Amino acid sequence: MNWGLVGGGKASQIGGAHRIAAQLDGHWRLAAGALDIDPEKGRAYGTELGIDESRAYGTWQDMLKSESGREDRIDLVTIATPNHTHFEIASAFLSAGFNVLCEKPLTMTVRDAEDLVRVAEKSGKICATNFGYSGYPMAIQAREMVRNGDLGDIRVVFSEFAHGFHADESDNDNPRIRWRYDPEQTGVSSITADCGVHALHMAEFITCQRITEVSAQFDHCVDGRALEDDALLALRFGNGSVGRLWTSAIAIGQVHGFGIRVFGSKGGLSWHQEFPNQLHFTPLNGPTRILERGSEALYPKARAASRIAIGHAEGMFGAFGNIYRSLHETIAGPGPATGDFPTVEDGAAMVRVIDTAARSAKQGGAWTPV
Ligand code: NAD
Repeated sequence: MNWGLVGGGKASQIGGAHRIAAQLDGHWRLAAGALDIDPEKGRAYGTELGIDESRAYGTWQDMLKSESGREDRIDLVTIATPNHTHFEIASAFLSAGFNVLCEKPLTMTVRDAEDLVRVAEKSGKICATNFGYSGYPMAIQAREMVRNGDLGDIRVVFSEFAHGFHADESDNDNPRIRWRYDPEQTGVSSITADCGVHALHMAEFITCQRITEVSAQFDHCVDGRALEDDALLALRFGNGSVGRLWTSAIAIGQVHGFGIRVFGSKGGLSWHQEFPNQLHFTPLNGPTRILERGSEALYPKARAASRIAIGHAEGMFGAFGNIYRSLHETIAGPGPATGDFPTVEDGAAMVRVIDTAARSAKQGGAWTPV
């Protein structure tokens, strides 16, 4: 099927991962793109990637107009631009009848997120949110274990996404970093919306629960930043369990820094994104077991999410690839849009949690309902 990409230009952080992941199973062909804020650079990179010259667009508006009139129009468009553009671009493509995969955070404001849910509903098209880490086989295994009661009642969820790559004041001049601390371009939160959101989504994804209350502390450790580069959140979930999130951009020495631990009445599990092929599970009063990706012992959904045999390293491209695979199965198949990918509602739920955290932080960490 034909796939289009908006943003994700040559110098971008995440564009390459989308291109590789989308094309991993041979289901999606990069047919059109408006890849860069600079129209010339976008067109040049598009043709370099093999997009036909007539479909390597200078702007997303040109892409929308031209693709709308084509019989072989794109079947899905990915939006991998900075946060402040997501709402406008996603709404425009959905309204014109295109399926959309939008990068996180879905939008900058709760109002836009709720509007986008309505636009998607009205369009009858798919709007997915790229919480790509939820495509990891062992994250899927963790969710299946919770669903099947292997951990008993979930009591505490501890998630963390703390890296050290924005720890230098000179970062403030880096164009890839600058927008992340500019409220005009990223909204009420920086690191919580940028990285913490993945850990928050993972907590909801694995426990199958929504976060219902938040108490947050936001701090900025690098001078000159208008938004937080370090945050600590206490969480309450719908089923009565509690959670913690630490997210940071100044934690020098932490590399990717994304992991989650879930503790229930019958056992606990631990998973880290830098070692994605292993999941540690400790049953109550029992020894710790290391579950390996690709093992026959995994739940079927976790086995199906893997592409290579046990023992080989499989990583982020495969995880993102699973989002694209689910989207393909849903769009190509006859059924309704019920695929196993993070939806626009999941994206909107996270925007609400971030907004709640920012409001709580302003009130000295007061418990605030989502
Ligand atoms: P970046 O600044 O590195 O790259 C942004 C790209 O978008 C650039 O190529 C830029 O030229 C292009 N662009 C900007 N405005 C555009 C427009 N109007 N039309 C066309 N292209 C435009 O940013 P990034 O780190 O790649 O992040 C992009 C988005 O992806 C953000 O929303 C970010 O939160 C998200 N992201 C998600 C993940 C993930 O794991 N899901 C990881 C990193 C970033």
